[in-house]
Amino acid sequence: RAKSAGKNQYQLFDEETDRMHVRKLELERDLRKALANNELCIYYQPKWDAELDCLTGMEALLRWNHPRLGMVSPAEFIPIAEETGLIVSMTRWVLNEVCIQNREWQKRDIVHVCVSVNMSIRVFESGMLCEMVEESLQESNIDSGSLELEITESIAMYDVQDTIRQLQHLKSLGVRVSMDDFGTGYSSLGNLDEIPIDALKIDQMFIRQSAQPSKQAIISTIIAIAGHLKLEVVAEGVETEEQIGFLQSRGCRVMQGYYYGKPMDTETLEAWLIANNERAKQGAS
Ligand code: C2E
Ligand code: MG
Ligand code: MG
Ligand code: MG
Repeated sequence: RAKSAGKNQYQLFDEETDRMHVRKLELERDLRKALANNELCIYYQPKWDAELDCLTGMEALLRWNHPRLGMVSPAEFIPIAEETGLIVSMTRWVLNEVCIQNREWQKRDIVHVCVSVNMSIRVFESGMLCEMVEESLQESNIDSGSLELEITESIAMYDVQDTIRQLQHLKSLGVRVSMDDFGTGYSSLGNLDEIPIDALKIDQMFIRQSAQPSKQAIISTIIAIAGHLKLEVVAEGVETEEQIGFLQSRGCRVMQGYYYGKPMDTETLEAWLIANNERAKQGAS
């Protein structure tokens, strides 16, 4: 009996592995067409200054509405886009869309903030990032200070010197740069001071566990490092008032998370902005 139960378990496991494999192949195959078929769209999540109680920025987050599978998470399809090299043309598209959308919001006086776009290390490796950014800025005619790039510590896994050169070029254009998911990557702190960035984003894992004294110590240390290096600091994944209270007490004022607003499509975001109009307007000045 035990033997046959074991065999069944193996069968279940195999079926599950097969299903995941088939899904991955399907996603790989369909991702190529997703861009051309207009299946990708961009959601925007607010960044909120808890001290001034106003909007300070937004982050652009990709979504894939697959015709058969429904919404596929970027956590699932970004790695596929990176493996296949599609990430470069996808990022080009996101940069263009974000700059055009943000310029339109500014023109219509809906909102005037900086919008950030997530960067994959593959895009740095391609050597085309600077050209892509310049093109998006030119075509949208948006002020370069309205665009931010979110990079991760994994840039240290590629070629730090080359990344620094590319970042310096981007900074000379006036584009902002932040370090995403800080504290979870593989990089050492050794060259953090040499990488030209404007802000550190504390990974949401720390915020989620911020009731633990040891995580509090890590969060405080990240905030202190940011202060010493004259970098802004943003807390990711803020969901509760307790977390906000703690973060503010340690000197972190900019927050992003479900407590303030989930990532929203443009229509929902515009309604959200109107509902938060007075406070959002302060962010404009
Ligand atoms: P990320 O850049 O660290 O983005 C934060 C993720 O946390 C987002 O997940 C966001 O929806 C989620 N989040 C925000 N606030 C909360 C909260 O309060 N609680 C919880 N539980 N989650 C929260 P999302 O949109 O699924 O994106 C996942 C990751 O996919 C992003 O992590 C980013 O690394 C990547 N990604 C998304 N869009 C792009 C893109 O255009 N290009 C690249 N290269 N990567 C992207
Ligand atoms: Mg990000
Ligand atoms: Mg993050
Ligand atoms: Mg993350």
